[in-house]
Amino acid sequence: MRIALIAHDELKDEMVEFVTAHADALGACELVTTGTTGKRIADATGLTVDRQASGPYGGDLQIGAEIADEKIDGVVFLRDPLTAQAHEPDISALLRVCDVKDVPLATNVASADLLVGGLLNEA
Ligand code: PGA
Repeated sequence: MRIALIAHDELKDEMVEFVTAHADALGACELVTTGTTGKRIADATGLTVDRQASGPYGGDLQIGAEIADEKIDGVVFLRDPLTAQAHEPDISALLRVCDVKDVPLATNVASADLLVGGLLNEA
């Protein structure tokens, strides 16, 4: 399993909590992340992550390209709905390619818990 993890700045603490809570299951996966999200996860959990560029510098698009290539099994993208993002078009492209490829995508912690539980058969 190769899982993509991305969080906007206001939600990076929540992402670290989420990954920590599912560290056993996620630790058995390949994790691909945007730049800053990946650094936060690696520092906090010690898990190995494949860090791409920071989101505003194209990281969302790099992960989107992997989805188009059918290399990603699921995406957790903790989006901040309250703050305008400079790279909104890139974010929309990533969400769109998930729908094109029918890749499961969670945009908040409640659905991310279900995604990880469903994909990774957590107890
Ligand atoms: P970041 O990118 O993890 O590098 O902050 C996430 C994003 O803004 O989409």
